[in-house]
Amino acid sequence: MKSSLSLGSVFGIEIGIHYSWLFVFLLVSWSLAYGFFPQQYPGWPGATYWIVGAIASLLLFVSVLIHELAHSLVAKSEGTPVRSITLFIFGGVSNITRESENPKDEFIMAFVGPMSSVVLGVVCGTLWFVSGGFSEQVQAVLVYLAAINLLLAVFNMIPAFPLDGGRVLRALLWWLTNNLRRATQIASQVGQGFAYVLIFGGLLWAFTGNILSGLWLVFIGWFLNSAAEGSYRQMVTQETLKGMHVSDMMYKDVEVVDPEATVRDLVERYILPRNIRALPVVHDSELVGIVTLSDVRDVPQEMWDATRVAEIMTPKENLHVLAPQDDVVQALEALAEQDLNQLPVVDRGNVVGLITRGHIISFLRVRQDLGVK
Ligand SMILES: [Zn+2]
Repeated sequence: MKSSLSLGSVFGIEIGIHYSWLFVFLLVSWSLAYGFFPQQYPGWPGATYWIVGAIASLLLFVSVLIHELAHSLVAKSEGTPVRSITLFIFGGVSNITRESENPKDEFIMAFVGPMSSVVLGVVCGTLWFVSGGFSEQVQAVLVYLAAINLLLAVFNMIPAFPLDGGRVLRALLWWLTNNLRRATQIASQVGQGFAYVLIFGGLLWAFTGNILSGLWLVFIGWFLNSAAEGSYRQMVTQETLKGMHVSDMMYKDVEVVDPEATVRDLVERYILPRNIRALPVVHDSELVGIVTLSDVRDVPQEMWDATRVAEIMTPKENLHVLAPQDDVVQALEALAEQDLNQLPVVDRGNVVGLITRGHIISFLRVRQDLGVK
């Protein structure tokens, strides 16, 4: 997930915060300082409510992180690499790089998240119970954490894919049907159905006076709906491209241009006659960058003779260079991550091809329209 702040790494997994999480931190601190704490524990000085609110809000963050770490560590122990965990407005996402190999792994990986929230809730509740007579502030934080962790467990166990409960449901369907695609399709439809219930419920609530809470539900429903749709599409993509390598799908007949060429040369000798949108830039048979139509567009036409390709290209250092034996799924992720339409393919220092997003997408579309893999 882009635009997130890195906090370092735990067990080799990078931890990041998306900026939207800061909004949640303020919202939770504020609602605790003005609502829950003064109602349950009246009589503290005003600033105390804010400090305790902020501490509770930070510990909520730690709770969500532990929940995500539980998923990630199980995934790792099952042999699936986990790149990062990002906390954002609706909680956390573990960036688990591929689907589980079998329904049992998927079931355990999904189930362990809500279970860790239950354990946290029970531990905080027990501490709250035995800490009677202790400082009121500590008790307030403990009772809040007990409640919120149990609530997190319940919400996540709703069988709406891609929530944890939806993943558990999918694992069971997968086990029953022995068909991951069919299982994902059903679980996503249930997820979308639940999202519509949230949206209509939220609207009804908003129109009967609870505007803010109602709109919040609509927002969660809308988010869940697009997440359900997106995860299904991603699964179909991954399955269609499974086992395909960059060399199966790259253009092999690639034109290259020298970094010292002028932009006018680039346009008149390469782009216009051949109708191409991107060229690897090569010097002494080594890749130095890539130049695209949009780089050219940024240069005013009267400057085309005075500007060299080297000045406008994206240098190699800023490119994710692919190898012919890389997975196409990885290539697609690299393209999306850098928001690029094409990447060069390099084998032992030589440019051997070009892979484009458009080509991969039309490959997928043809197969999906025909209903074949
Ligand atoms: Zn979870």
